[in-house]
Amino acid sequence: MYCSNCGAQLNEGSNFCHVCGQAAGALIKKEKTPAVNEPKGNPTPVLVWGILGLAFALSGPISFLGIIFSCIGRGKAAEYVDRYGDESKQATVGRNLSKAGLIVGIVMTVLFVLYCLFMVGLFGYFIRNIPNYR
Ligand SMILES: [Zn+2]
Repeated sequence: MYCSNCGAQLNEGSNFCHVCGQAAGALIKKEKTPAVNEPKGNPTPVLVWGILGLAFALSGPISFLGIIFSCIGRGKAAEYVDRYGDESKQATVGRNLSKAGLIVGIVMTVLFVLYCLFMVGLFGYFIRNIPNYR
């Protein structure tokens, strides 16, 4: 507390300024009341897992890792929305990346499995049909 008249520091609860006698009613409180801090979330993990999910989803041979990372990203996004609402752009971007990563990851994994089956089939075809030079 400070006196509004002379600026002297006052004891909490005193009715008059001990320096100039200013009434306590005119005393102003200079201490700032700490702003009520809204809990602030950290949306970075949502974004990071989303990026990882999509990046791995596009990889082909390890697209299944993209599915896993995307699922983690979606979990983090849901957790974030639960706790802090959905106001962070990073979280929204991360969530959408995770969604895309999940879809791309599944498609790429299926394609990669088909590709492997195709190559195995092709290999088998050549093995059976290679001319015998004996
Ligand atoms: Zn005073």
